[in-house]
Amino acid sequence: MGIAENLAALPTQSTADLPYYRPIGNEVTLFEYAYRHQLPVLIKGPTGCGKTRFVSYMAARLGRSLYTVACHDDLAAADLVGRYLIGHNSTYWSDGPLTRAVREGAICYLDEIVEARKDTTVVLHPLTDDRRILPIDRTNELLHAPPEFMLVVSYNPGYQNLLKGMKPSTRQRFIALRFDYPPRQLEQEILIGETQIDNALAVRLVNLAQALRALKDHDIEEAVSTRLLVYTATLIKNGFDPVAACQAALVEPLSDDKETITALMEVVLASF
Ligand code: ADP
Repeated sequence: MGIAENLAALPTQSTADLPYYRPIGNEVTLFEYAYRHQLPVLIKGPTGCGKTRFVSYMAARLGRSLYTVACHDDLAAADLVGRYLIGHNSTYWSDGPLTRAVREGAICYLDEIVEARKDTTVVLHPLTDDRRILPIDRTNELLHAPPEFMLVVSYNPGYQNLLKGMKPSTRQRFIALRFDYPPRQLEQEILIGETQIDNALAVRLVNLAQALRALKDHDIEEAVSTRLLVYTATLIKNGFDPVAACQAALVEPLSDDKETITALMEVVLASF
């Protein structure tokens, strides 16, 4: 039996234990394909559109542990691989999340990978090609990733600038999935699934989000995300006035500019 068939036979969790995730397209099938064929996955999409939820869902579905790292511009290779720490009388080695995931055959998810320092992508190279190895120079180890290990990275193409964009040699090792805010109908379904609000409120909130997303001329770096809609729905469900909830959870997080806030609030007031 080949590795692919072996993995196909792995027990998966019952849907009752899984985090709530509403598939949008063929992302579940593609991810499972990548897992079975030991290919790394790259997920690109704006913030708050469901990337992290999707990865948690897939990890649970495949019965794998998940190590998530939120990358930032100070993140170095040692933060992923591990480092020597000072103990009582001596130093000892402590595995980083990537090393732990390789040893255990888990999924390692690097969120906002383009933020990380360049030396981190060097560590990822031999893990993402068919060698699937992680050399740890400091401990003189060479780890071979088991078939169950999987690397998943995400980034927001909106934040990307020319300098920070991923190198083609890194990108071309991944199966790439493009995420976006869900279509109207599905976003309503997600709001109801996440917060148990009624259908009428879900329709209203998603219509409002669509109207706000269509406003292009203002000083808004990011559009209204599904995450912000979920927060707003939760506030309303907990008794907050809808306009106040929209201001606090949908509008204020988007901009600091007073004129922009006023313009966005006009759209809110037209909806509630
Ligand atoms: P990202 O990682 O893209 O920034 P998240 O995965 O944290 O975004 O998604 C933000 C929130 O939006 C989630 O916590 C969840 O409430 C909701 N969400 C977005 N898409 C979906 C989906 N397809 N199914 C279920 N919930 C979703």
